[in-house]
Amino acid sequence: MYLLEEAEGFSKDLLGGKGFGLVAMRKAGLPVPPAFVITTEACRRYLRTGEVPGLWEEVRAKMAALEGLTGKRFGLGEGNNPPLLVSVRSGAPVSMPGMMDTILNLGLSLQGVAALSRATGNPRFAWDSFRRLLAMYGEVVLGERAEVFEGMLSALKERKGARSDADLTAEDLEELAHAYLAHLEARGTPFPMDPWAQLEGAVLAVFRSWNNPRARVYRRIYGIPEDLGTAVVVQAMVFGNLGEDSGTGVGFTRNPATGEKGLYGEYLRNAQGEDVVAGIRTPEPLDRLKDYAPELYGELLRVAERLEGHFRDMQDFEFTVEKGRLFLLQTRSGKRTAQAAVRIAVEMAEEGLITREEAILRVEANALPGLLRPAVDRERAPRPLLKGLPASPGAAFGHAAFSNEGVERLSAQGLPAILVRPETTPEDITGMYLAKGILTARGGLTSHAAVVARGLGVPAVVGAEALRVFPEEGRAVAEGVEVREGDLLTLDGSTGEVYLGAVPLVEAAGEAYLHKLLAWAEPYRRLGVRANADTPEDARRARELGAEGIGLCRTEHMFFHEERLPWVRRLILAATPEEEDEALQALFRFQKEDFKGILKAMDGLPVTVRLLDPPLHEFLPPLEELRQKAEAGDEEARRLLERAEALREVNPMLGFRGVRLLLLRPGIFRMQLKALLEAAKELKEEGLNPRPEVMVPLVADPKEVERAKALAEELFREYGPIPFGTMVETPRAALLAAEIAPLVDFFSFGTNDLTQMAFGLSRDDAGKFLPRYVEEGLLPFDPTERLDEKGVGRLLRLAVEEGRRANPALKLGLCGEHGGEAGSVRFVADLLDYTSASPFRVLTARLAAAQAGL
Ligand code: PEP
Ligand code: MG
Repeated sequence: MYLLEEAEGFSKDLLGGKGFGLVAMRKAGLPVPPAFVITTEACRRYLRTGEVPGLWEEVRAKMAALEGLTGKRFGLGEGNNPPLLVSVRSGAPVSMPGMMDTILNLGLSLQGVAALSRATGNPRFAWDSFRRLLAMYGEVVLGERAEVFEGMLSALKERKGARSDADLTAEDLEELAHAYLAHLEARGTPFPMDPWAQLEGAVLAVFRSWNNPRARVYRRIYGIPEDLGTAVVVQAMVFGNLGEDSGTGVGFTRNPATGEKGLYGEYLRNAQGEDVVAGIRTPEPLDRLKDYAPELYGELLRVAERLEGHFRDMQDFEFTVEKGRLFLLQTRSGKRTAQAAVRIAVEMAEEGLITREEAILRVEANALPGLLRPAVDRERAPRPLLKGLPASPGAAFGHAAFSNEGVERLSAQGLPAILVRPETTPEDITGMYLAKGILTARGGLTSHAAVVARGLGVPAVVGAEALRVFPEEGRAVAEGVEVREGDLLTLDGSTGEVYLGAVPLVEAAGEAYLHKLLAWAEPYRRLGVRANADTPEDARRARELGAEGIGLCRTEHMFFHEERLPWVRRLILAATPEEEDEALQALFRFQKEDFKGILKAMDGLPVTVRLLDPPLHEFLPPLEELRQKAEAGDEEARRLLERAEALREVNPMLGFRGVRLLLLRPGIFRMQLKALLEAAKELKEEGLNPRPEVMVPLVADPKEVERAKALAEELFREYGPIPFGTMVETPRAALLAAEIAPLVDFFSFGTNDLTQMAFGLSRDDAGKFLPRYVEEGLLPFDPTERLDEKGVGRLLRLAVEEGRRANPALKLGLCGEHGGEAGSVRFVADLLDYTSASPFRVLTARLAAAQAGL
């Protein structure tokens, strides 16, 4: 446990983000109220053993130091001196906004209120502070629901005919405080009048809040380790609610939505901190201060500059003005949209605040797909229904839902949802996470809804004041129009506009800052980046984003088209070689055109075509449907049903698919490869430069590769050879890499299947329990999203080393979904020649590969 002045140079892991920021600000000469930090170590110990020896003695000693620094006594006024009150706040090493609990005005009691009132000559302020403490303490420490206190406040306002809190008098607030006290007493959780007992309760509540459900959900979503624990900051209170020359605000040194440089934020006059963050009252923009408090504005500008100079990053800071005097309460690197992250990194490098290399490393590569978010097509959009604040960019449409449950219901049906709330609180995290868009009636750009939506990358419009939301009734009203649960809405989080119905969207335009950053990054990238694409359109998009070829073209996707499925089914049903031939001929014509389109879009770059992978029964209608039709006398359905039953497998993923199918039904193999070779030949005749490669999936033994290669060579003799490779996606293929490598030109690691088989879990079903596994700490992250370096990575490394040794010319790539995940890309950056990612993740792969080179 350390006073700010004792903790210089200590780590963020120990002090938590808040404590760390306060120590640094104090050191940089910024005005910070005296405080001390109880370290994360104490929290971890408490959570492990239920006690921390010597904790309270130390707390008393530090409180004595705060008393010395402020010249006030804890909880007690002396003469005209107000009592020392403190805030008790959590601060994890990783920022978790709104997830943990804060208590303000701690130390007040009935006796303290009288002293505070005397000392400030402001009884209204004193009672207001007390009733706030009672409500916060009642909720956070004593476990009462916040709505109970809000309900009592609303009832009082109604009775007194008050329109806002400001209309309540000192007497009203005194009455409210007594009502709170009586309520807490009656429910068997009396409020402790002893300031020390309050402090003890608050510190332990902060420790425990590490494990509250919403903090757990947040950690799971962001992959924050479960065992960090939180620090506790105990800080002398300063008051923003002492009158019109007081207030509280939040500032950003750059715009967190766009990245534009300049002081940006919000201010609420005569208010306490939580009012802003909780989004309960809509604050005014900081800019407004220029008019009525130019000196304060100037001071904030200097603070912003100082903060950036010190932390060398965009800062998000909280401040309070007490009777014209500015105090900084918190600073941290500000959360920002992907768009803002890129612009800030680039501009800070251009300003010389950071290096270009730092700029490249600053941007979270996994967030780049957010930059490609669509916008409302304004040419074709109707008049908007509403306008609010543009809180998180991107446009989305979906069905209105008014609760977590509503969003979950829609999502379970595969329908997009727009979460509509009066304002959001941390309780809404599940709905916010699943929703395609978020709309709130109240709150500013720094409200909970705005901050969380930006972090999640979900488009959001907040503070749409014309909107009235009635969650319990499942409806909202705006401009005389009623929106009911399930109604379609579109919102554009870049403009703040909200439309009724589903409005056409347009793809996002390219970003100048992003191109600059990627241009800086390119020289550091050694790993090639290709795309997984199976249509010419995807291929073109990927190429525009910088893909250097196609690493995986899944041909089965081409079979699922309406006009082709009947031919695939005829192929499956074929009773004679003639029937099979006819079906293959038809499919050949389709495939050749498909391949021509893709090769053309990637002209001059390699295109790896994977031969058919799934089991054949995937191309048949569901058994139940066939049964019904067959019973109704449909002859084709009857034959299909017979085949479907014959092909049925208990474990289709481990079944008759991939190379197994291709070798036993070689007609399909020949048809596909011939279509590819013929397509390339025709394009060459047109003067183009197609570069096809072919690969077989699901190999587990060198014999399979030999046989497949022999089949391929029959056609190579006629058309000339192309690179021939195999996927390495079964553990056995990885283990036998030394024997397989001499037979092929390349390996492509199919880490989806390799992960599935290495863990022995179904990639299609594991979503049902993997999140809980991660939550329980059984796995550090979901291995279907991010490559498991320890196990799957070991198989991969072994195959790379032994494969290369056996065939020094072997080319190596990766084409599972991990190929576009930044951490996985960094892992393979030195091992492989290229990675292959879905088109919208190509940018992530490029940036992550460059980051690995730094
Ligand atoms: C893989 O298994 O990693 C792969 C790329 O193939 P698919 O996802 O089509 O099984
Ligand atoms: Mg696979």
